[in-house]
Amino acid sequence: MKRKFWSKQILDLVPYTPGEQPKINDLIKLNTNENPYPPSPLVSKLLAQFDIDHLRRYPDPESFELSQTLADYYNVAVDNIFIGNGSDEVLAHAFMAFFRQQQPILMPDISYSFYTVYCDLYAIKATAIPIEDDFSIDLAKYNIANGGIIFANPNAPTGSAISLQKIEQLLETNQQSLVIVDEAYVDFGAQSAVALTQKYDNCLVIQTLSKSRALAGLRIGYAIGNKNLIEALERVKNSFNSYPLDMLAQACAKTAIEDEDYFQSSLKKIVATRTWTEQQLASLDFKVLPSKTNFLFVQHKNLAAIEIMQYLRDNKIIVRHFTKEKISNYLRISIGTQQQMQSLIECLNTLLREEEK
Ligand SMILES: *Cc1c(COP(=O)(O)O)cnc(C)c1O
Repeated sequence: MKRKFWSKQILDLVPYTPGEQPKINDLIKLNTNENPYPPSPLVSKLLAQFDIDHLRRYPDPESFELSQTLADYYNVAVDNIFIGNGSDEVLAHAFMAFFRQQQPILMPDISYSFYTVYCDLYAIKATAIPIEDDFSIDLAKYNIANGGIIFANPNAPTGSAISLQKIEQLLETNQQSLVIVDEAYVDFGAQSAVALTQKYDNCLVIQTLSKSRALAGLRIGYAIGNKNLIEALERVKNSFNSYPLDMLAQACAKTAIEDEDYFQSSLKKIVATRTWTEQQLASLDFKVLPSKTNFLFVQHKNLAAIEIMQYLRDNKIIVRHFTKEKISNYLRISIGTQQQMQSLIECLNTLLREEEK
């Protein structure tokens, strides 16, 4: 089809491809790092009691109550918080607000693939810094002239984490540009850089309620940084969509953050299942990268990633594969419930036994 009326920039744009959301119900879905457990039961109570008459009104454009709850939770001021419609939107606004600079921005060559999409969308130049042979990130390599730096900690899809000390070193040596730390998975075991946002004016942390709080369906993300950075994000937001977060999302997010006990107990279950799955996969001759997230990045000793993925799919288990050459023989497997991971291991066991014949 001829792409009539499209602007030139959109013709050339290659959009992000999200993991598949299949319409079939009985799949074991381990492809998008969703939480296998429901959100806090207090969220369900809130929704049951919500007076729909409120929906006639626009929501609070500033998500003030949620900002206050997040500020209390992270021990920062309310004007250190920016809230958006998923952290993808917060990231997009941050790229727009901070990264349209003369110098290229720096990011790992293997990381969240949305970063390069935003660069194309906003005509931002970027330099990809190769990750190490063991798939870790060496921040010493980022001490070169740049228009900004972004990385995910822990990184996706590799799962590896950087220490706070290394991040602080980078903030010290790179004071002339902004460093964004995407902490989408930080709750599963890495160290958060939120405290560093209070000490360094060049540090912005971005988090989401999609993974550890099991609210991917509501689209809630936020940034934490000093007031100067938050103001720039507000300016972009208010030039784009002043009501990014609907009323229900604001209320549910606040309630989810307040239920610390439930949060901790579901994290604990996921981490325990991750440890169990790691061991099982290792015993089936998988190389499993150390993970501080709710997924594992794995490669089999003999079998090709694509072949394993197809076999799992035929058996109603879906996992994620990336075509980028460096990682094309790896699979990213989200941590599901203990039972789902047992099914995964059984399925892989059968595949490997069939292969041996
Ligand atoms: C999932 C993910 C996001 C996006 O999260 P949303 O809040 O659902 O938009 C951002 N960064 C990374 C690294 C992710 O894996």
